Amino acid sequence: MAEKKYVYPFEESYGLGKELLGGKGAGLAEMIHIGVPVPEGFTISTEACTLYYDSGKTIPEFVRNQIFEAIARIERSTGKTFGGSTNPLLVSVRSGARVSMPGMMDTILNLGLNDVTAAALAKETGNERFALDSYRRFILMFTNIAKGHPRTDMDKMLEALKEERGYKLDTEVTTEELKVLVAKYKEYYKTVFGEEFPTDPKVQIMEAVAAVFRSWDNPRANTYRQMYGIPYSWGTAVNVQSMAFGNKGETSGTGVAFSRNPGTGEKAISAEYLPNAQGEDVVAGIRTPLHIEELKARMPEVYEQFVQTITKMEAHYKDMQDMEFTVEDGKLYFLQTRNGKRTPAAALKIACDLVDEGVIDEKEAVLRMDPVAFDKLLLPGFNKDELAKATPIATGLAAGPGAGTGAIAFSAEEAEARKNNGEKVILVRAETSPEDIVGMVAAQGVLTMRGGMTSHAAVVARGMGKCCVCGCTAAIIDEEKRTLTIGDKVYTDKDIISLDGSTGKVYEGAIKTVEPDLTSGYFGRLMGWVDQYRQLHVRTNADTPRDAKQARVFGAEGIGLCRTEHMFFAKDRILSMRKMILAETVEEREAALAEIEPMQQADFEALYETMLPFNVNVRLLDPPLHEFLPQEEELVKELADAVGKSVAEVKDKIANLHETNPMMGHRGCRLAVTYPEICKMQTSAIIKAAIAVSARTGKAIEPEIMVPLVLEERELKFVKNIIAETADKLIAEAGITMNYHVGTMIEIPRAALLADEIAEHAEFFSFGTNDLTQMTFGFSRDDAGKFLPSYYDAKILEEDPFKTLDQNGVGKLVTTAVKLGRATRPTLHIGVCGETGGEAKSIEFYHKAGLDYVSCSPFRVPVARLAAAQAAIKNPR
Ligand code: ADP
Ligand code: MG
Ligand code: MG
Repeated sequence: MAEKKYVYPFEESYGLGKELLGGKGAGLAEMIHIGVPVPEGFTISTEACTLYYDSGKTIPEFVRNQIFEAIARIERSTGKTFGGSTNPLLVSVRSGARVSMPGMMDTILNLGLNDVTAAALAKETGNERFALDSYRRFILMFTNIAKGHPRTDMDKMLEALKEERGYKLDTEVTTEELKVLVAKYKEYYKTVFGEEFPTDPKVQIMEAVAAVFRSWDNPRANTYRQMYGIPYSWGTAVNVQSMAFGNKGETSGTGVAFSRNPGTGEKAISAEYLPNAQGEDVVAGIRTPLHIEELKARMPEVYEQFVQTITKMEAHYKDMQDMEFTVEDGKLYFLQTRNGKRTPAAALKIACDLVDEGVIDEKEAVLRMDPVAFDKLLLPGFNKDELAKATPIATGLAAGPGAGTGAIAFSAEEAEARKNNGEKVILVRAETSPEDIVGMVAAQGVLTMRGGMTSHAAVVARGMGKCCVCGCTAAIIDEEKRTLTIGDKVYTDKDIISLDGSTGKVYEGAIKTVEPDLTSGYFGRLMGWVDQYRQLHVRTNADTPRDAKQARVFGAEGIGLCRTEHMFFAKDRILSMRKMILAETVEEREAALAEIEPMQQADFEALYETMLPFNVNVRLLDPPLHEFLPQEEELVKELADAVGKSVAEVKDKIANLHETNPMMGHRGCRLAVTYPEICKMQTSAIIKAAIAVSARTGKAIEPEIMVPLVLEERELKFVKNIIAETADKLIAEAGITMNYHVGTMIEIPRAALLADEIAEHAEFFSFGTNDLTQMTFGFSRDDAGKFLPSYYDAKILEEDPFKTLDQNGVGKLVTTAVKLGRATRPTLHIGVCGETGGEAKSIEFYHKAGLDYVSCSPFRVPVARLAAAQAAIKNPR
């Protein structure tokens, strides 16, 4: 039987897809296909990674054989020999997952070097320095990446040498010195591992490949994966590629290029170049690279080819490209291309520009927007007047969007801890590495001293939509002493600074921020397309006129969930509420409720007026009553005095209301069943408010009344009767006609399963996915945080089911309820009002399930509109 293929030469793999080849491998194959100069190589597929884990973390013999066949193939076409004493073949071993995970996976360069091949390389190139420099780098990378040993000691050896000689740059180190350094590195390797550095390139390569597979499971990769919801099962591919040397001398170099500006979206190549260097030097931010003009000045013909190739690649991929290139002795190679990460503002401009250039259509432009970063467009910038008055203390590269103000934090842990204490911080680092991701998440912005537009900090910040200024060389950051020095001023963790991610300027002190413009310009244009293509309506969860107004600005089409409990907590109301709870008789209770009713009515009037012409859906009181009662001695006393009871009596009542499991206790419509007066009062406030606003504005109001936590047809019928009796009477008294709608939340699994019966009495359903998830999983949302991390680590769950709908389980209840409900009542109006209503993946599911709308917090409304449009474009219904 022929063995399954796990290894694909680049020239043969075009079109096999990212799933199999990883993003980098697929990109290399495609570049070759369109005629871009790329060094030869092959891809070991993602299936081989899975096989590696399935085989107890070993690479099976037949995969190994396929790898060596592929190397033999490169040997034949390049005339070089792997491990040869003449014309040796050197390769890089590069990871490449399906989607790019910057900095997560490690690459080893110059593999194949040993004393013999290094000598051959020196002789054949006539450049011993270059050979030794490559060898040095290889030993370091092999030790660090393949063997997982920290590079600190080796880095220190180089630093010590430079310091001793007074060198500033690595390139100043002489050939003789490099020779000594290589010997030291090898000796160090032997001390650490108790064996010689492996000289056999075959051993080297197998170790390197296994290391890439292993890195798929390292903590940094796991963090990134969780953050972006990348499934563990995907695995990573490995690319083995013949080396192009950028460190051969002054006619060599390496760099990175974007076909458009990733910060602003401006249509101009944005590139950086580092002469006499190897790829990792640019990305690591060790030396700050030069402007691409440097390449133009040094080698105009190479530059010309560079520009042409980039133009060709952008035209081919129809999107802004992020590319790596290397010049070896005046010959240009491209090592990688991918759709470039960009700030949300750049994404918006590029999408609109590409439509205008006729490269993509409007639907494609909508699909291009990343819903995860989209809400960053709603981020504030600095107030222009305040900004004009502020004097920048330093300027770096404008690497990430928005504006950020906060106190200085010097490490990721510190940033995270202080953020958790409610402080706003700016993470300040000499340069960032993947370990800093948690700190970047926690910070309002990131400032680095070293590194260019493609340094780790810049790439990750843009991906997160985080404000970032990098390569700010005037800012001397001492992480050990915990100081930031600019000029002769020293800043500490007590000081506040402000960063402008769109100009790269750093300011002392806090600067006021302002909201962005959402109706005109690129944003307005894109949202126009979004609203044209989406089929789901987007409502908001709001219970104050302020939130409702904000949501209207963001494009909400009504309120999908108005929680009424918040309305009882105001200082002047809570006492009436408490009186109501403590009441012994229906009469007492009604008297207390009568105090609350006009306040509720006023709230609803304000909401109706703010939302006109859209509907407002009010949910009847939901939480257990004990939540409204005081705990502190003083407040208990105050309450006792107010209701003319003893402190002991009040305490007794509080104790009585205590529940072991309040989430499953006396709450939701159970309150309406036991205390119909509450339901009557709320209905009355809802209807009276509608009558009043109708009269005032001359516009029809159609209140929607939502009964929470229903589990049974008869239960809903019982509550609905109370509502109807109250509402019909008020409407009749007013002598007007008014449509109002009574529906239910579906948030108990039983209700979803019996949705056909429940729909007899419900005009609408709204899925409350917070409770539905909690009850379906059988774990409490408030406690799940304690054990969910272990579930992620053990890969039992990959995502927080409270943020992203669990499509398998909870989703099945949703689709079941939709089907059953509509079978009974074809006109049933269906929405969702849980937290997942504002999350893109969940929204796609709701679109496919045939819902009419989603409802989410005001700030998520634009994202939900976008996600709804993307879902509709991808899955027309
Ligand atoms: P990353 O995903 O971290 O960017 P890469 O695999 O792209 O990792 O490699 C790191 C650096 O090494 C990049 O700058 C890349 O261009 C360079 N590089 C990788 N393979 C080669 C090669 N065969 N020849 C020259 N440079 C290479
Ligand atoms: Mg790369
Ligand atoms: Mg609920």
